[in-house]
Amino acid sequence: MSFDQLGLGAEILRAVSEKGYTTPTPIQLQAIPAILEGGDILAGAQTGTGKTAGFTLPLLQRLSQHPPAKGLRPVRALILTPTRELAAQVEESVVTYGKYLPLRSAVIFGGVKINPQIDKLRRGVDILVATPGRLLDHMGQKTVDLSQVEVLILDEADRMLDMGFIRDIRKVLAVLPKQRQNLLFSATFSDEIRKLAEGLLNQPVLIEVARRNTSSEMVEQVVHPVDRQRKGELLSFLVSSQNWRQVLVFTRTKHGANRLAQQLEKEGISAAAIHGNKSQGARTKALADFKSGAVRVLVATDIAARGLDISQLPHVVNFELPNVAEDYVHRIGRTGRAGHEGEAVSLVCVDEHKLLRDIERVIKRELPKRVIPGFEPDPSIAAEPIPNGRNQRSGAPRGNAPARQGRPGGNKPRSQGAATAGKPGGARKPAPRNGGGARPRG
Ligand code: AMP
Repeated sequence: MSFDQLGLGAEILRAVSEKGYTTPTPIQLQAIPAILEGGDILAGAQTGTGKTAGFTLPLLQRLSQHPPAKGLRPVRALILTPTRELAAQVEESVVTYGKYLPLRSAVIFGGVKINPQIDKLRRGVDILVATPGRLLDHMGQKTVDLSQVEVLILDEADRMLDMGFIRDIRKVLAVLPKQRQNLLFSATFSDEIRKLAEGLLNQPVLIEVARRNTSSEMVEQVVHPVDRQRKGELLSFLVSSQNWRQVLVFTRTKHGANRLAQQLEKEGISAAAIHGNKSQGARTKALADFKSGAVRVLVATDIAARGLDISQLPHVVNFELPNVAEDYVHRIGRTGRAGHEGEAVSLVCVDEHKLLRDIERVIKRELPKRVIPGFEPDPSIAAEPIPNGRNQRSGAPRGNAPARQGRPGGNKPRSQGAATAGKPGGARKPAPRNGGGARPRG
């Protein structure tokens, strides 16, 4: 089955083909015709499945079939996403696939100036991509008119609920016209999502695609035992000697991410860090440089990496094991996507043996250990407690909003996972990432 059998117009097909896609992914095969029919959709799909094009292409098609009246450009489609990065990526897709159509789009999220967004909205926007917090700001200032919305899309709805956005979403729903098409995308289906879907969707078409292959066959996983102090050296050695070109490296802390990126740079390996204390501009630039190949190593914390559209990476490195075993599965899910083989390497020191055992229990297999000659661990080095590790609870918010993640006192190393680690040793429930406190603003 190819794209031209799905009911999309020539302008969209041209843009899709220029992007290099030849075959629709399973979610696209199901979602595109269903959305074109005009009904509501409840789709279970994770990042990496091609879901963005799955809703963007038919949305563009539908809107272009009834172009707006001249001069009048009310928002006709509203796409809500949990994070700024995802909002930016979704709007980028709208621009890419809609390049031959006379439709206008805009993205609005917090952490950047509001006035340029107001100007853009005033000039008229057909498709608006937004995070809930900033959208509410615009609603409050009456700088956005949502009274003509024909299609509402909730992307990564489960994460929006996790992040405490439910009240904001309900406020947005309250101002939308009753008659509209609703598309809900979610990777998981908790009771809360079901409740939201029941209230929102009218006889939805259900679309479910297989979960992404994560910790299993497609990803080759290996542990390199190494001393705590020699991890940076080992990473440089691996990147250089194996000639890795695009490597996503995970650290536990923002401070650790910065330090490692600097160390790699010093050794002549281009690297950038991406985490919650970086400005939106810096994060966007780091991601763009990584994607273009200008930056070889992207060092990220778990939170910062969430929602990033960086898929099919050949190499993911756990510079430090995550405090929460499930995060390991998320991390390595970045590699080996869509039939590509990937490699996930974990640098494990004596302090992390317990974390490693927890991970092996979660993925139900023992990971192969391979000592790299010259980096043999020194058996006389004793284990030290991991600072802010899993047995310590942190009351600090696990926010996603970078501007608000910073704390007085600056870059102290802090566990990103601790706030949601729950009971020591216990399974993690998707706790609100903002620690249940202040509303995270997108
Ligand atoms: P998404 O799940 O929407 O985040 O998409 C994951 C990745 O798959 C993105 O990098 C897309 O550009 C890419 N992609 C989406 N649809 C296709 C397709 N039909 N063929 C190849 N790649 C695709």
